Amino acid sequence: MKEDSAAKNAKNRIDELTDAVNYHNYRYYMLEDPVISDFEFDKLVKELAVLENAYPEYIREDSPSKRVGGAVSEKFGQVKHNIPMLSLDNAYSKDEVTEFDGKIKRFLGYDIREEIDYECEFKFDGLAIELVYKNGIFVQGSTRGDGVTGEEVTANLRTINTIPLKLQKDISYQKNISYIEVRGEVLMDKKGFKRLNEERLEEGLSLFANPRNAASGSIRQLDPEITSRRNLIMFAYGVGDYSKEIKFETQFEIMSFLRTAGININKNIKVVKGISDAIDFFDDIEKKRESLPFEIDGIVIKVNDLKLQERLGEISKSPRWATAYKFSAKQEVTGITGIEVSVGRTGILTPVAILNPVNIGGVIVKRATLHNQDETSKKNINIGDRVLVERSGDVIPEVVKVVFKGKKAGAFKLPDFCPCCGSPVVIDGAAHRCMNELSCPCQIKGAIVHFASKRAMDIEGLGEKIVGKLVENGLIKNVADIYYLKQGDLSSLEGFGEKSEENLFNSIEKSKNISYDRFIYALGIRHVGEHIADLLVKYFGDVNGIKSAGIEELSSKFGIGEEIGKSIFNFFRLNSNLAVIERLFKAGVSPYIINVSISAENSKIAGKSFIFTGGLKDFTRDEAENIVREMGGIIEKTVKKKLDYVVAGGEPGSKYGKVVKLKLNIINEDEFKELIKK
Ligand SMILES: [Zn+2]
Repeated sequence: MKEDSAAKNAKNRIDELTDAVNYHNYRYYMLEDPVISDFEFDKLVKELAVLENAYPEYIREDSPSKRVGGAVSEKFGQVKHNIPMLSLDNAYSKDEVTEFDGKIKRFLGYDIREEIDYECEFKFDGLAIELVYKNGIFVQGSTRGDGVTGEEVTANLRTINTIPLKLQKDISYQKNISYIEVRGEVLMDKKGFKRLNEERLEEGLSLFANPRNAASGSIRQLDPEITSRRNLIMFAYGVGDYSKEIKFETQFEIMSFLRTAGININKNIKVVKGISDAIDFFDDIEKKRESLPFEIDGIVIKVNDLKLQERLGEISKSPRWATAYKFSAKQEVTGITGIEVSVGRTGILTPVAILNPVNIGGVIVKRATLHNQDETSKKNINIGDRVLVERSGDVIPEVVKVVFKGKKAGAFKLPDFCPCCGSPVVIDGAAHRCMNELSCPCQIKGAIVHFASKRAMDIEGLGEKIVGKLVENGLIKNVADIYYLKQGDLSSLEGFGEKSEENLFNSIEKSKNISYDRFIYALGIRHVGEHIADLLVKYFGDVNGIKSAGIEELSSKFGIGEEIGKSIFNFFRLNSNLAVIERLFKAGVSPYIINVSISAENSKIAGKSFIFTGGLKDFTRDEAENIVREMGGIIEKTVKKKLDYVVAGGEPGSKYGKVVKLKLNIINEDEFKELIKK
């Protein structure tokens, strides 16, 4: 009996919490007007997670925990759309838009001077999807596909925060709608797109050509976990089929209804009288376009009155009552006069096309990126070709495709040797890379700044500006040279007094005595961050130990993957790198190994993994992490499915949301202190 009432209480509380979390999620993501603090919100989520863990039978279909953990599928199912998802006709000029208006009036038998109400909204450049809500609960999501049949991607769409799992009860309509199909576009914002491609380049993966492809690729992932990491946004633009408890008279009413039901609607919607006002709206938006956080490719103009929409109907798979008024393409054709190879701060070789200067949307473009060898080969681009170049927003112009092949057959090939230092180039996934990290002049400034940075050798006063001056004046060519600077070398530089020289020499001296993991991290080996540096020292000891390990051993030992293993292995194969390390030691750099085994043996946390989020009261982040390391624990920097402890302090960061979703073991500062008690 007693158990029954406990279960009943749990069920009630799960219901309450699910509703509360969904509501606050709506306030936060859709209205951007939260009414509780992040901390309070997280408390609700945490309580819900605990209860759901204990009573999985009461987890509701619209539970926020359903946003993750969907099963990885082998293949997408098919969904037939109740009402086909039509595509829009395009218009590219004022004349074409005016003709669209004229046709409508003729079809309806209106006088040409009569004005029609149009609803204008953004034309998003994303992936069209359909969401089905039954009794307010999100039950199925699909892609547009060919308009008639799409792919079933419910689990992936669930991971998107701007897609509510449950509709808000509509206040103005005073009832729930029992069935509705919401149509929208899923997109990735410009920032997210840039970051994703940077990450992919780092990881040696092929790049996405534009945010639309990135969004589409992210939704069409068999593993929802990957989708959840992509920061996608959904904006709705209309409805498909719906139960008729609610009557709409205009397109604008539909959008207002969706908005109050908690569906994400872009704010830039306007009902105008007559086509000339729609054109004004377009001109206005075109000016704002570059400053928007996401890509749009124009506006959509829809007849606002639904009765008129019905009368107008459709013609060859496009509605007669709507058109997409597109921005003129920011693309032009020009010739490639040369291809330069630039070497970035991380050693990646990038082919850059030198163009016959061309005016694209008011900007003279002289260079465009070819991204990497894969892209160049795939598009078969070479010097002398006439190509289509595209410029969009703040992204570097890129060559889209060849329109006329020049005399040179085949694609341009990146050199086998670094154009900057002559070292052999190593193919690292999609990246071609100069591995001469410690001496290549193109990489050297970045390498030295990293070496001296706070978390590495911590040489105070050796920031970007001074490093730049030292390298430009030929005073240092690699990181070892720092320790061979002589008195007077620095004070000869502009803006550098004797006092500051003395200070710098002091911190250089101090840096010679540093823990071994920080020394390894400071070397800036590709893919070796603090965490992996720490593991390398734990498993292999010093430089000699790491150097003598094979790729297989490096990769398999702690499951870091072959990519990273290879990069470490190659680093220690290059004589110039070994020479620099040798000179560092000769100059008196003598890193020490912290012996963790004694204290770690008896510790409760040996071998356990930790991640910290938010600020602690009694420790700095570094202190807390060092304690964990010294007791034999492992510090993780990114949230993953397998983590033993998440230590959450005040005002936890973005990691926290993921942690909660993954139902990880969250502890507070007091519990952490208890753990590390000797
Ligand atoms: Zn180089």
